[in-house]
Amino acid sequence: MNYEKLIQAADRCVLCGLCSSHCPTYQLYQIEGESPRGRVMMSTALIQGTLVAEPSLIEHLNHCLLCRACEKACPSEVPFGAILDTSLSHLSTTSWRSQLIEWMALHPKWLQKLAVVAAIWRSLRLPLPPLGRASIKLLPKKQTAIAHFYPALQDKIGRVGLFLGCFARPFDLQTHHAAIQILTQLGYEVMIPPQQQCCGALSQHHGNPQQAKQQAAINRSAFGNQPLDAILFTSTGCGVQLIEQSEPGTPCIEFCDFVLQSLTLKKLPLKPLAEEVMLHHPCSLSNVIQGSNAVEALLMTIPGFKHQTLAPGCCGAAGSHRIREPQTADTLRQPKIEALQQSGATTLITTNYGCALHFAEGVELTGLTIEIIHPATLLFRHLKEPPLDPDRLLDE
Ligand code: SF4
Ligand code: SF4
Repeated sequence: MNYEKLIQAADRCVLCGLCSSHCPTYQLYQIEGESPRGRVMMSTALIQGTLVAEPSLIEHLNHCLLCRACEKACPSEVPFGAILDTSLSHLSTTSWRSQLIEWMALHPKWLQKLAVVAAIWRSLRLPLPPLGRASIKLLPKKQTAIAHFYPALQDKIGRVGLFLGCFARPFDLQTHHAAIQILTQLGYEVMIPPQQQCCGALSQHHGNPQQAKQQAAINRSAFGNQPLDAILFTSTGCGVQLIEQSEPGTPCIEFCDFVLQSLTLKKLPLKPLAEEVMLHHPCSLSNVIQGSNAVEALLMTIPGFKHQTLAPGCCGAAGSHRIREPQTADTLRQPKIEALQQSGATTLITTNYGCALHFAEGVELTGLTIEIIHPATLLFRHLKEPPLDPDRLLDE
C-alpha cells in the first residue's frame, strides 16, 4: 500500500476506542500511547512528518505486539498492521537484539549449525537458561536433512509445496515431519524446494520492508518453478507474511485448513485420543488468518477428541518481542501458564513455533510437565498405521 492510500485508510479511524479493550498493551499500561488508537495517530503523524521520533514515541510503537487484535475488532477496518509496519520503517532505532534475530533468520546455515550445537549441548546435559532449555526440548531427537520431494503414499490426488520457515526449519522438524506424513498418506506429493528462505516477517516488523520484499521474491521463485495446488505452512506467524506478500497464482494455505478440505481425509484411519488437550490459538491464526475453527474442526476428526481452549489474547511471544521485551512477554504469558496449570492438561497444541517456544520456556520455569506440539503432530500420532518410521522418513 503506498503512503497516500495508507494515510487515507488511517483516516477511517473515528477514534471510537472500541479496539482498546482488545489491546494487550493498553490493558497493561492503561495509557493512550499504548492503545491502538494512539498508535494509529502517532504512526500517521510520523509518516506525514508532522511528529518527530522522540524516545517515548519510539517506545510506544516498539511495544506493539502486532497481534492485530485491534484490526479484527475495528468496525472501520483500519489496516493497523500495515500502518504500524510503515511507521516502524521510519525509525532507525532497531535494537541489537532485533538485528541479531533478523540476521539469524536470514542466514539458515548458521541456524542449522546452532541446532546442531543445541543437540550436542542437550546430549552433554550442560546448563542453559530457561529459553535455551525450552528450545532444546522442542528439538527433534535427530537433526537430519529434509528431502526435496516426497511421493504420495496413496493414489495421487495432488501436489503441494511445504514452507519450512527459518528458525522452525531446524528446530521444529517434528512438525514438518508430521505434516509430510499426513499429506503423503492423504495422497499428495510434497515438494520442499531447498531454495526457500525466511518469509521476511521479522524484517517487515523491524522496519525493513525492502528485505521483506526480497524474501518474498526468493520464496516466489523457489516455489514458482513447479505446478502446485497450494503452498502450505505450519507456522502461522510465517503464514500471515506469506499470504500478505503473495501474488495471484498458487494460494498459500494454513496446513490444518488444507487437510480439513481434503476429500481423502475421511479415509485416514485414526486412533482415539484418551486425554483432554489444551488448545492455544496464536494471534496470527485467530486475528489475521481467522483459522481457529479449521484447526478445531480438523482435530475433531480424531475419535474422542476433547479439549479446552486458552482465553484469547497475545501470549507475549510476538515475533522478536520475547527477546526485545522479556518482562512484558512474561507478564502476558503468566495468566496462560496459570490456566494451563489449573487445567491439568498434559498437552498444549499451538500452530505457531514462536508461541510454542515461549510457552515451553514458561512451562520450564514453572516445572510443569506439559508437552507442546503442533496440531499436525497430534494428528500424526493418531494415525492408526503411520506409513514410515519418522527417523527413516527424515533420513531419505
Ligand atoms: S476501533 Fe478502529 S476506528 Fe475505533 S479507535 Fe480503534 S482503530 Fe480507530
Ligand atoms: S497490534 Fe496488538 S498490541 Fe498492537 S495496538 Fe493492536 S491490539 Fe495493541
